[in-house]
Amino acid sequence: MSALDLAQHPHRRFNPLTGEWLLVSPHRSQRPWQGQQEAPDRSQRPAYDPTCYLCAGNTRANGAVNPAYTGTFAFDNDFAALTPDAPAGTVEMGGLLRAEAESGVGRVICFSPRHDLTLPEMSTPDIRRVVDVWAEEFASLGARPDINYVQIFENKGAVMGCSNPHPHGQVWAQRTVPGDPAKETVQQQAYFQQHGRSLLADYLELELNEQVRIVLENEHFVVLVPFWAAWPFETLVLPRRVVQDVTQLTDAERDRFADVIRRLTIRYDNLFQTSFPYSAGLHQRPTDGQQHPEWHLHMHFFPPLLRSATVRKFMVGYELLANPQRDITPEYAAQRLRELPEVHYKQTTA
Ligand SMILES: [Zn+2]
Ligand SMILES: [Zn+2]
Repeated sequence: MSALDLAQHPHRRFNPLTGEWLLVSPHRSQRPWQGQQEAPDRSQRPAYDPTCYLCAGNTRANGAVNPAYTGTFAFDNDFAALTPDAPAGTVEMGGLLRAEAESGVGRVICFSPRHDLTLPEMSTPDIRRVVDVWAEEFASLGARPDINYVQIFENKGAVMGCSNPHPHGQVWAQRTVPGDPAKETVQQQAYFQQHGRSLLADYLELELNEQVRIVLENEHFVVLVPFWAAWPFETLVLPRRVVQDVTQLTDAERDRFADVIRRLTIRYDNLFQTSFPYSAGLHQRPTDGQQHPEWHLHMHFFPPLLRSATVRKFMVGYELLANPQRDITPEYAAQRLRELPEVHYKQTTA
């Protein structure tokens, strides 16, 4: 094994001004980009695209051939930001510059063999299969001694930097717990130690009493615009029962998780009558071998659109230099989302 080379190998760098870390993946500049070929109207995409590296039966850039999958399909990302065989080691200079080797695994999860679908256009049972894959990925990656955190997410839309319109998500699993989940661990731990209860369970109870920021709910899940939302139509998906990770959800809860994901993403598409872009992902307990009774599984949706299919919120200027800022209130955003129908606009206008 060679020494850590900051020009070659994945690593984390420490920012002594903020005390935070960032991930650097210098080996990754070769990845394919198909996002700019996306047709403006996603309904015009074919069900199968012979040039798509995620469609069933197609050959990927590294020569691997996708199986003729009919449901979901997960595989190691050919251009992963993290690699399991990265050399270990640290680099330190002058007591101020610190870098650490970072190892991990990148996975891709195809949600459907259909190139032309997105989550809101899939059936609830098909979305449920995606939830099951999330649980399988979390279980298998989280069990590895070299993996202490598993981040499952989806980037939807070219505006979010998604490199292929085929419905898919990713998993980045790594040796360290990255910034935001680490901060949420600290906050949830502090609350749990003080109150002996889940921070998010107490928050959910408060929101259910207030009712002003709730978007939709079912027997097992609630979707709300958090009081502290930064993005215009940001939402938080919360299970009513406190579970630390997606593997602990019962059969019925997984069904109802799929139900709220479908209903929420339909409302998102209906908001501006467009295939609504977002980054979304699960936050769950670190897989560091510790008990995490404080952790409460949840899913964040961070969508950038503000006023129309083309007018988006930018996190720039003050947001980059000071802290996030918003104009429309979370209460107003929740009301807008609540008022939308749960029939997809393409079905009502077809
Ligand atoms: Zn495809
Ligand atoms: Zn979170």
